[in-house]
Amino acid sequence: MNDRNVYRVDLRELEFVLFEQFRIDQDLLGRAPYQQFDADTTRQMMRLARDFAYQEMGPLYQSSDRDGCTLRADGTVRLPDGYQALWNKYIAAGWGAMGTAGAPYVLGMPILEMFLGANPSFTCYSGFCGSLAEMIRTFGSVALQDMFCDKLATSAWSACMCITEPGAGSDVGNIGTRAVRQDDGSYLLQGGKIFISAGYHDLTENTVYAVLARVQGAPGGTLGLSCFVVPRYAVTADGGIGADNHVRCVRLEQKMGLHGCATAQLSFGDSGPCRAYLLGEKENIGLRQLFLMMNQARISTGIFGLGMASSAYLNAAEYAAGRVQGSGLRQSFNPRAPRLPIIEHHDVRRMLLEMKSKVEGCRALIYKLALHVSQAQALRAVPAHTAACARDDAATAVALRRHDGLVNLLTPIVKAYASDQAWRVAELAIQVHGGYGYTSDYPVEQYARDIKILAIWEGTNYIQAADLVRDKLAMGKESTLLRLYEGEIRQSIAAGADHGLLHHEFSRLGEAMDVPCAMHRRCAAWTAQGKMELAFAFATRFLESMAEVTLAWLLLDAAVIAARRLREIGSAGAQDDTPFYRGKILSAQFFVGNQLPMIHGRARSMEEADESVLQADAGIFLERSQLYV
Ligand SMILES: Cc1cc2nc3c(=O)[nH]c(=O)nc-3n(C[C@H](O)[C@H](O)[C@H](O)COP(=O)(O)OP(=O)(O)OC[C@H]3O[C@@H](n4cnc5c(N)ncnc54)[C@H](O)[C@@H]3O)c2cc1C
Repeated sequence: MNDRNVYRVDLRELEFVLFEQFRIDQDLLGRAPYQQFDADTTRQMMRLARDFAYQEMGPLYQSSDRDGCTLRADGTVRLPDGYQALWNKYIAAGWGAMGTAGAPYVLGMPILEMFLGANPSFTCYSGFCGSLAEMIRTFGSVALQDMFCDKLATSAWSACMCITEPGAGSDVGNIGTRAVRQDDGSYLLQGGKIFISAGYHDLTENTVYAVLARVQGAPGGTLGLSCFVVPRYAVTADGGIGADNHVRCVRLEQKMGLHGCATAQLSFGDSGPCRAYLLGEKENIGLRQLFLMMNQARISTGIFGLGMASSAYLNAAEYAAGRVQGSGLRQSFNPRAPRLPIIEHHDVRRMLLEMKSKVEGCRALIYKLALHVSQAQALRAVPAHTAACARDDAATAVALRRHDGLVNLLTPIVKAYASDQAWRVAELAIQVHGGYGYTSDYPVEQYARDIKILAIWEGTNYIQAADLVRDKLAMGKESTLLRLYEGEIRQSIAAGADHGLLHHEFSRLGEAMDVPCAMHRRCAAWTAQGKMELAFAFATRFLESMAEVTLAWLLLDAAVIAARRLREIGSAGAQDDTPFYRGKILSAQFFVGNQLPMIHGRARSMEEADESVLQADAGIFLERSQLYV
């Protein structure tokens, strides 16, 4: 039995970010290579996606959580009721080929946000199709491209990313799956993977696995890993389905959330030869290649969290407007005082504002990152000398460096901060619902269970923070990337310094911007003093500080636009959008006044340079009961 749809999205907000804040209709759409896209087609696409999310995906959200997936005795996997029919509709409606329609990457964001928000487990089944197709197109031979790309690009065949093994989680270099080179140049795979999302099912006639493995004789560690493309069924010469390629599901993980997604333990080559195709011509560069897929998955993880957190927030707001409890603070002792909807209580509003500002801030952050991806792709697709506008090669190179640099810098921040805040938003949504939020009568407890994995997969959030500090920002050494990022924010701060309504908030942002810069210098100092460990101990707090400065910046940017619109509305007399724009201003003011100050606490603890984490050996944590046996 299907449930009612519980997913909620405010298209007005999504359109604000795309058109009013980032002005994609003026700066991106309608020009090469996106000539065929404009504001109307984008709006139409978003409405179609919202209808599909509400009418088709949403109603299976709660029922698929109850149904879950089961491994049958014959080795096949049963998915939740209704998933096959939903998949057929998804493909028939063309959503499976979303990435191939030539649309800019940023247009995929609202659609993905809605689909992942409405039914994250279901959406996982098409999650890697586009990125694996792109990876094969980028690195694979023509033969490999012919074999897989079209099928993957349309989601006719599904895709999985296979990295994790029992001894190789964060420690990817420990992978033990082996590839044995054959005389004819092909490889046979032998080994097992665990925790593989959407790893085994029959929604599609074939599944293609991107597998990290070690060719026999290759060096240990990450530098000995190669990437293989492994179909569940062999592909015939005419592109059809051939013989079984001996990929088996050994077990399904029993997990906290995402019950509709079959998270599989897989074996390769245990029941017979499992043929694998090396990606490209070189061995031992697999991890580098896989980063193409992984970086997209990290951005998608951010959208994953955003979609669910946004719906959790809107559910909480709806509940708070309808639930009547208590009277006004000043009438607490008057039994005849009118009872109020809880949305009137200040603490409930505090929670709603925290959710609202974080959801809106994370959305702006993720869409901004996606915009830089689209702009870089546009510059690469249309060389300067063929572009309609006069653009020289040097200017193109500078613009590309800026877009690529910001994408690099913001990817770990999107992955880690958006997923952590989605968890916080889900927790607050439960709190707003009170006891009902803890029951399965309301969707918010499921959001929390479904969201938690986002901080763990695609590299845990600590791995993102370490990546930011070590790889993106060179352990505090002089960084042109940080200067570029800081420069853009300082420009906004300067422009906002005499803003009639928001000058105070801009000044607070200026003070907060000093913090990540100081933290960065501190990392360099610690490294020079031989205390590099401290830089890693503070990496998560550094990432959070960068994220909160960025969110405050983007929320203020939106608030400036909203303030201008309110002035225009005032003179035109149209009132409909007034609460929306007032809400944008309050989101920014709340975030700057209540969340941003936390950054100074982190800065203070970094100044303290407390070394307790360096001194705390395992012995102080472990229980001592054995001593008394
Ligand atoms: C539902 C689900 C779906 C998944 N889907 C996929 C998938 O499709 N494909 C796939 O390949 N994998 C998948 N994974 C695996 C996931 O990517 C791993 O769980 C994740 O990378 C963490 O590895 P681990 O579980 O072994 O944890 P560990 O690596 O053991 O980490 C445990 C803790 O220790 C910390 N830690 C580890 N190493 C360090 C270090 N050097 N320094 C500081 N702290 C450290 C971590 O941050 C974490 O907090 C999935 C997992 C789950 C649960």
